[in-house]
Amino acid sequence: MIEVRDFSFAYNDKNVLTHLSAHFPLGTFCAIVGPNGAGKSTLLKAIAKLLDKTSGIFIDGTPLNEYSFATLAKKVAYVPQRQDVVFDFSVSDTVMMGRNPYQGRWAAPSDADMEIVAEALAMTHLSELKERMLLQLSGGELQRTYIARAIAQQTPILLLDEPLSNLDVAHQLEIMEIVSDLNRNKNTTVLFVVHDFSMAMRYASSVLLMEAGRIVDFGEPGAVLTPEKIRSTFHIPDKYAIDNYGRILFN
Ligand code: ADP
Repeated sequence: MIEVRDFSFAYNDKNVLTHLSAHFPLGTFCAIVGPNGAGKSTLLKAIAKLLDKTSGIFIDGTPLNEYSFATLAKKVAYVPQRQDVVFDFSVSDTVMMGRNPYQGRWAAPSDADMEIVAEALAMTHLSELKERMLLQLSGGELQRTYIARAIAQQTPILLLDEPLSNLDVAHQLEIMEIVSDLNRNKNTTVLFVVHDFSMAMRYASSVLLMEAGRIVDFGEPGAVLTPEKIRSTFHIPDKYAIDNYGRILFN
Protein backbone atom coordinates (compact mmCIF):
# COMPACT_ATOMS: atom_id res chain seq x y z
CA MET A 1 0.00 0.00 0.00
CA ILE A 2 1.40 3.36 -1.02
CA GLU A 3 0.18 6.68 0.26
CA VAL A 4 1.30 10.03 -1.07
CA ARG A 5 0.06 12.83 1.16
CA ASP A 6 0.27 16.46 0.10
CA PHE A 7 3.66 15.87 -1.48
CA SER A 8 5.41 18.76 -3.19
CA PHE A 9 8.83 18.67 -4.76
CA ALA A 10 11.08 21.16 -6.55
CA TYR A 11 14.34 20.68 -8.41
CA ASN A 12 16.34 23.73 -7.40
CA ASP A 13 13.60 26.35 -7.52
CA LYS A 14 11.40 24.70 -10.08
CA ASN A 15 8.22 23.14 -8.68
CA VAL A 16 7.71 19.76 -10.25
CA LEU A 17 5.12 18.17 -7.96
CA THR A 18 2.58 20.38 -6.22
CA HIS A 19 0.47 19.23 -3.26
CA LEU A 20 0.05 15.79 -4.71
CA SER A 21 -2.05 13.26 -2.81
CA ALA A 22 -2.85 9.75 -3.95
CA HIS A 23 -3.56 6.39 -2.36
CA PHE A 24 -2.54 3.21 -4.15
CA PRO A 25 -4.11 0.18 -2.47
CA LEU A 26 -2.45 -3.21 -2.30
CA GLY A 27 -2.57 -5.05 -5.61
CA THR A 28 -3.35 -1.99 -7.68
CA PHE A 29 -2.13 -1.87 -11.26
CA CYS A 30 -1.90 1.82 -11.99
CA ALA A 31 -0.84 3.51 -15.21
CA ILE A 32 0.63 6.98 -14.77
CA VAL A 33 -0.10 9.05 -17.82
CA GLY A 34 0.61 12.66 -18.74
CA PRO A 35 2.59 14.95 -21.02
CA ASN A 36 6.37 15.22 -20.88
CA GLY A 37 7.48 17.12 -17.82
CA ALA A 38 4.26 16.39 -15.89
CA GLY A 39 6.29 14.93 -13.02
CA LYS A 40 5.58 11.23 -13.61
CA SER A 41 9.19 10.07 -13.25
CA THR A 42 9.70 12.33 -10.27
CA LEU A 43 6.70 10.76 -8.54
CA LEU A 44 8.08 7.25 -9.06
CA LYS A 45 11.50 8.36 -7.83
CA ALA A 46 9.91 9.88 -4.75
CA ILE A 47 8.22 6.57 -3.92
CA ALA A 48 11.49 4.71 -4.57
CA LYS A 49 13.21 7.05 -2.06
CA LEU A 50 15.53 8.43 -4.69
CA LEU A 51 14.78 12.08 -3.98
CA ASP A 52 16.16 13.99 -1.05
CA LYS A 53 12.63 14.52 0.25
CA THR A 54 10.57 11.72 1.79
CA SER A 55 8.01 13.43 4.02
CA GLY A 56 4.45 12.72 2.95
CA ILE A 57 5.17 9.29 1.49
CA PHE A 58 4.11 6.17 3.35
CA ILE A 59 4.55 2.53 2.46
CA ASP A 60 2.34 0.10 4.34
CA GLY A 61 1.55 2.93 6.73
CA THR A 62 5.19 3.59 7.63
CA PRO A 63 6.83 6.88 6.62
CA LEU A 64 9.37 6.36 3.85
CA ASN A 65 12.17 7.93 5.89
CA GLU A 66 11.86 5.13 8.46
CA TYR A 67 12.90 2.56 5.86
CA SER A 68 16.56 1.76 5.47
CA PHE A 69 17.60 1.20 1.87
CA ALA A 70 18.05 -2.50 2.63
CA THR A 71 14.53 -2.83 4.04
CA LEU A 72 13.02 -0.76 1.27
CA ALA A 73 14.74 -2.94 -1.33
CA LYS A 74 12.63 -5.83 -0.06
CA LYS A 75 9.46 -3.78 -0.48
CA VAL A 76 9.98 -1.74 -3.64
CA ALA A 77 11.67 -2.58 -6.93
CA TYR A 78 12.20 0.31 -9.31
CA VAL A 79 13.07 0.06 -12.99
CA PRO A 80 14.21 3.46 -14.27
CA GLN A 81 13.40 4.81 -17.66
CA ARG A 82 16.87 4.56 -19.15
CA GLN A 83 19.65 2.40 -17.95
CA ASP A 84 22.93 2.61 -19.75
CA VAL A 85 25.07 -0.47 -19.59
CA VAL A 86 28.03 0.65 -17.54
CA PHE A 87 29.47 -2.71 -16.58
CA ASP A 88 29.09 -5.54 -18.98
CA PHE A 89 27.58 -8.26 -16.81
CA SER A 90 25.84 -11.34 -18.09
CA VAL A 91 22.05 -11.52 -18.08
CA SER A 92 21.96 -14.02 -15.21
CA ASP A 93 24.48 -12.05 -13.10
CA THR A 94 22.35 -8.95 -13.62
CA VAL A 95 19.18 -10.72 -12.57
CA MET A 96 21.02 -12.18 -9.55
CA MET A 97 21.63 -8.57 -8.40
CA GLY A 98 17.93 -8.52 -7.58
CA ARG A 99 18.81 -10.92 -4.75
CA ASN A 100 21.34 -8.51 -3.17
CA PRO A 101 18.95 -7.25 -0.48
CA TYR A 102 18.62 -10.82 0.80
CA GLN A 103 22.28 -11.80 0.74
CA GLY A 104 25.17 -11.15 3.07
CA ARG A 105 27.75 -8.88 1.54
CA TRP A 106 30.15 -11.59 0.41
CA ALA A 107 27.80 -14.55 0.54
CA ALA A 108 27.49 -16.83 -2.46
CA PRO A 109 23.99 -17.14 -3.89
CA SER A 110 21.94 -19.82 -2.15
CA ASP A 111 20.05 -22.56 -3.95
CA ALA A 112 16.89 -20.56 -3.28
CA ASP A 113 18.46 -17.48 -4.94
CA MET A 114 19.39 -19.59 -7.97
CA GLU A 115 15.85 -20.92 -8.21
CA ILE A 116 14.32 -17.48 -7.94
CA VAL A 117 16.63 -16.14 -10.66
CA ALA A 118 15.84 -19.11 -12.90
CA GLU A 119 12.14 -18.42 -12.40
CA ALA A 120 12.55 -14.71 -13.19
CA LEU A 121 14.51 -15.60 -16.34
CA ALA A 122 11.82 -18.06 -17.40
CA MET A 123 9.02 -15.55 -16.79
CA THR A 124 10.74 -12.99 -18.98
CA HIS A 125 11.70 -15.56 -21.63
CA LEU A 126 15.39 -15.00 -21.09
CA SER A 127 16.50 -18.48 -20.00
CA GLU A 128 18.24 -19.14 -23.29
CA LEU A 129 20.05 -15.81 -23.16
CA LYS A 130 21.22 -16.06 -19.58
CA GLU A 131 24.92 -16.32 -20.43
CA ARG A 132 24.74 -13.43 -22.92
CA MET A 133 26.49 -10.18 -21.96
CA LEU A 134 24.32 -7.06 -21.64
CA LEU A 135 26.11 -5.26 -24.48
CA GLN A 136 25.04 -8.03 -26.82
CA LEU A 137 21.34 -7.64 -26.14
CA SER A 138 18.68 -5.87 -28.16
CA GLY A 139 16.81 -3.01 -26.49
CA GLY A 140 13.86 -5.29 -25.75
CA GLU A 141 16.04 -8.01 -24.26
CA LEU A 142 17.84 -5.48 -22.09
CA GLN A 143 14.51 -4.09 -20.91
CA ARG A 144 13.34 -7.62 -20.06
CA THR A 145 16.60 -8.26 -18.17
CA TYR A 146 16.01 -5.24 -15.95
CA ILE A 147 12.44 -6.32 -15.37
CA ALA A 148 13.67 -9.84 -14.54
CA ARG A 149 16.05 -8.32 -11.98
CA ALA A 150 13.12 -6.47 -10.42
CA ILE A 151 11.09 -9.71 -10.39
CA ALA A 152 13.97 -11.53 -8.66
CA GLN A 153 13.89 -8.82 -6.01
CA GLN A 154 10.49 -10.30 -5.00
CA THR A 155 8.99 -7.08 -3.77
CA PRO A 156 5.30 -6.47 -3.22
CA ILE A 157 5.66 -3.16 -5.09
CA LEU A 158 7.01 -2.68 -8.60
CA LEU A 159 7.64 0.76 -10.10
CA LEU A 160 8.28 0.87 -13.84
CA ASP A 161 9.20 4.07 -15.63
CA GLU A 162 8.22 3.77 -19.28
CA PRO A 163 8.88 0.05 -19.55
CA LEU A 164 7.52 0.03 -23.10
CA SER A 165 9.61 2.75 -24.66
CA ASN A 166 11.79 1.55 -27.52
CA LEU A 167 9.92 -1.71 -27.87
CA ASP A 168 7.93 -2.87 -30.86
CA VAL A 169 4.31 -3.72 -30.23
CA ALA A 170 4.87 -7.47 -29.77
CA HIS A 171 7.52 -6.85 -27.14
CA GLN A 172 5.33 -4.21 -25.49
CA LEU A 173 2.57 -6.78 -25.16
CA GLU A 174 5.03 -9.30 -23.79
CA ILE A 175 6.15 -6.91 -21.03
CA MET A 176 2.55 -6.01 -20.20
CA GLU A 177 1.62 -9.70 -19.95
CA ILE A 178 4.58 -10.43 -17.65
CA VAL A 179 3.71 -7.55 -15.35
CA SER A 180 0.03 -8.37 -15.50
CA ASP A 181 0.78 -11.97 -14.42
CA LEU A 182 2.76 -10.68 -11.44
CA ASN A 183 -0.12 -8.44 -10.50
CA ARG A 184 -2.69 -11.22 -10.85
CA ASN A 185 -0.75 -14.16 -9.42
CA LYS A 186 1.34 -12.49 -6.73
CA ASN A 187 -0.86 -9.47 -6.08
CA THR A 188 2.11 -7.22 -6.82
CA THR A 189 1.24 -3.55 -6.66
CA VAL A 190 2.39 -2.05 -9.97
CA LEU A 191 2.79 1.60 -10.90
CA PHE A 192 3.96 2.15 -14.45
CA VAL A 193 4.48 5.24 -16.55
CA VAL A 194 3.14 4.76 -20.04
CA HIS A 195 2.44 6.88 -23.10
CA ASP A 196 0.22 4.45 -24.92
CA PHE A 197 -3.39 5.06 -23.86
CA SER A 198 -4.59 1.76 -25.26
CA MET A 199 -2.05 -0.16 -23.14
CA ALA A 200 -3.20 1.75 -20.08
CA MET A 201 -6.84 1.03 -20.86
CA ARG A 202 -6.29 -2.63 -21.61
CA TYR A 203 -4.06 -3.55 -18.69
CA ALA A 204 -4.30 -1.05 -15.85
CA SER A 205 -6.88 -1.19 -13.09
CA SER A 206 -6.53 2.55 -12.57
CA VAL A 207 -5.03 5.56 -14.30
CA LEU A 208 -3.38 8.55 -12.67
CA LEU A 209 -3.50 11.39 -15.16
CA MET A 210 -1.00 14.16 -14.42
CA GLU A 211 -0.17 17.55 -15.81
CA ALA A 212 2.35 20.11 -14.58
CA GLY A 213 2.93 18.42 -11.24
CA ARG A 214 -0.72 17.99 -10.39
CA ILE A 215 -3.27 15.22 -10.64
CA VAL A 216 -5.83 15.87 -13.33
CA ASP A 217 -7.79 12.72 -12.58
CA PHE A 218 -7.34 9.36 -10.89
CA GLY A 219 -9.70 6.45 -11.32
CA GLU A 220 -10.86 3.73 -13.65
CA PRO A 221 -9.09 3.82 -17.00
CA GLY A 222 -12.27 4.32 -19.02
CA ALA A 223 -13.39 7.20 -16.83
CA VAL A 224 -10.04 8.98 -16.84
CA LEU A 225 -8.85 8.51 -20.40
CA THR A 226 -11.82 10.12 -22.09
CA PRO A 227 -11.28 11.99 -25.35
CA GLU A 228 -12.10 15.26 -23.55
CA LYS A 229 -9.56 14.78 -20.77
CA ILE A 230 -6.90 13.56 -23.17
CA ARG A 231 -7.50 16.60 -25.37
CA SER A 232 -7.27 19.11 -22.55
CA THR A 233 -4.36 17.48 -20.69
CA PHE A 234 -2.22 16.96 -23.77
CA HIS A 235 -3.40 20.15 -25.50
CA ILE A 236 -4.46 18.41 -28.67
CA PRO A 237 -5.90 20.89 -31.19
CA ASP A 238 -9.58 20.60 -32.06
CA LYS A 239 -8.84 19.76 -35.66
CA TYR A 240 -7.85 16.25 -34.55
CA ALA A 241 -10.65 13.93 -33.48
CA ILE A 242 -9.93 11.47 -30.64
CA ASP A 243 -11.76 8.18 -30.30
CA ASN A 244 -12.75 6.31 -27.14
CA TYR A 245 -9.46 4.41 -27.15
CA GLY A 246 -7.51 7.65 -27.03
CA ARG A 247 -6.48 7.31 -30.65
CA ILE A 248 -6.08 10.35 -32.84
CA LEU A 249 -8.27 10.04 -35.91
CA PHE A 250 -6.97 11.49 -39.12
CA ASN A 251 -9.42 12.09 -41.90
P1 ADP B 1 7.81 13.29 -16.76
O1 ADP B 1 8.29 11.97 -16.26
O2 ADP B 1 6.34 13.49 -16.56
O3 ADP B 1 8.21 13.59 -18.16
P2 ADP B 1 9.76 14.37 -14.93
O4 ADP B 1 9.35 13.95 -13.58
O5 ADP B 1 10.84 13.61 -15.59
O6 ADP B 1 8.46 14.42 -15.86
O7 ADP B 1 10.20 15.88 -14.91
C1 ADP B 1 9.39 16.91 -14.42
C2 ADP B 1 10.13 18.21 -14.58
O8 ADP B 1 11.28 18.20 -13.74
C3 ADP B 1 10.63 18.50 -15.97
O9 ADP B 1 10.43 19.85 -16.23
C4 ADP B 1 12.08 18.15 -15.91
O10 ADP B 1 12.82 18.93 -16.82
C5 ADP B 1 12.44 18.47 -14.49
N1 ADP B 1 13.52 17.60 -13.98
C6 ADP B 1 13.51 16.26 -13.96
N2 ADP B 1 14.62 15.77 -13.37
C7 ADP B 1 15.36 16.85 -13.02
C8 ADP B 1 16.63 17.02 -12.37
N3 ADP B 1 17.34 15.96 -11.95
N4 ADP B 1 17.05 18.27 -12.18
C9 ADP B 1 16.33 19.35 -12.57
N5 ADP B 1 15.13 19.25 -13.18
C10 ADP B 1 14.65 18.03 -13.41
